[in-house]
Amino acid sequence: MKKSWKITVVFVIFIGLLFNVITINHNKEVNKIKTDKRVVMLTFDDGPSSYADNKIMDILDHFDVKVTFFMTGINLQKYKSDIGIKKVVDRMIKSGHSLGNHSYFHNKYINYQKILINELDAVNLMIQNIYLENGIKIDKKDIPIRMPYLQYYKGLGYVIQRIKNPFWIRGYLGTDYLEQVTGKDKILNQYVKHLKKGQIFVAHSKDYAKVWLPELIQNLKAKKYNFANFTQNERFHYSNYGKLVF
Ligand SMILES: [Zn+2]
Repeated sequence: MKKSWKITVVFVIFIGLLFNVITINHNKEVNKIKTDKRVVMLTFDDGPSSYADNKIMDILDHFDVKVTFFMTGINLQKYKSDIGIKKVVDRMIKSGHSLGNHSYFHNKYINYQKILINELDAVNLMIQNIYLENGIKIDKKDIPIRMPYLQYYKGLGYVIQRIKNPFWIRGYLGTDYLEQVTGKDKILNQYVKHLKKGQIFVAHSKDYAKVWLPELIQNLKAKKYNFANFTQNERFHYSNYGKLVF
């Protein structure tokens, strides 16, 4: 009797662990692009910011690299009133970079799924309208989402089902957002140490990006890496992320 009780406990623990492993692995699916090619994705969160994003795009233009900007509604709403913001976002689209949804208020949403759904819907619509102003019609399914603080919790499954955007993007996050507190060398080391095929690097629309970004791109190019982002173009396809091009 005692032995069978023990076996039951062990079995329950085993199932629990197995469930955890499955959940964690599923979670990891969005951490990288499924590919055996030397490809990485660069992403910049929390914009738009007229100074930082213009500097970032000057560097990207110089190296001919396309990226994805995950932006908040609170910043994107300035598109209508702030000419600098309008110009920088229009430049992103015209240059072939992608716009992503980073929620409206950039909060912690673990207890607020309905609010999160409303925010994501609102930012999807803003992004669609901005593309339309640039003469491009896109489906909301083509807009990638990144949760603020890379949040992931069980209730998010419900939100993912409701929102129906297929691309929920995580990735490797260092401490670039602390800018000079982390410093150029450490930021570069963090990214280079986590470099692998299909890696997605999380960075931020911060002024300090101008200090480390050129060297990161030079480093990756020297290692023969290409850069993926989300576009309407269909030259390459990765099963986890739909249509990606270099
Ligand atoms: Zn963020």
